[in-house]
Amino acid sequence: MTEFVFAPPAQASVPVAGGGRFPVRRIFCVGRNYVEHALEMGGNPEREPPFFFTKPADAVVTGGADMPYPTQTSSLHHEMELVVAIGTGGRDIPVEQALAHVWGYAAGIDMTRRDMQNDAKATRRPWDMSKGFDHSAPISDIVPAAALPDPTKGRIMLSVNGAVRQDSDLSKLIWSVAETITALSGLVELAPGDLIYTGTPAGVGAVVRGDVMEGTVEGVGTVRVTVV
Ligand code: MN
Repeated sequence: MTEFVFAPPAQASVPVAGGGRFPVRRIFCVGRNYVEHALEMGGNPEREPPFFFTKPADAVVTGGADMPYPTQTSSLHHEMELVVAIGTGGRDIPVEQALAHVWGYAAGIDMTRRDMQNDAKATRRPWDMSKGFDHSAPISDIVPAAALPDPTKGRIMLSVNGAVRQDSDLSKLIWSVAETITALSGLVELAPGDLIYTGTPAGVGAVVRGDVMEGTVEGVGTVRVTVV
């Protein structure tokens, strides 16, 4: 038996709709994966291959828990996203086999320190602290993949205090779920427990303490979180 010098951290996990918990290994996120959002960020979406960044596994906020407003930002943005939960790992996964690696789906919010990210872009520094901070990954319960047999279409929307901010459709993803899995598995060997935040549509914006975010992916579920 391994003798750790102190107790290892608790396993990060996300509730599964219907019971049980999905253990989280890593969190990957796709940048600029909807045309209108790429344009609102000043990018040129048509010619960009998918790119990825990460968050720590224990950044997940689950079960409707509150999200503390992070330090060192005055521009905390929501990015509503479809989340893919990987059940079977692999590398260089062919696109026609990619969806067989999916255990389930969830609705998630890629929370972003936008002011810090803009500074990082301007100074060519990493995004880690603008994207991968504590509590930066609110997520709904995970539903088995059978709940979303065709992840190429479905409404994706987010409201803040009841006012709709983001409202789009999965059919507008530049890189589909299957193509995203193929691309990411060419960079790292995917493993059971990996989550992939697949990118956000247009309409990102700031939230402040007291705001209630509610985001839904049609056929998947709803993530609710209050900023405190
Ligand atoms: Mn995002």
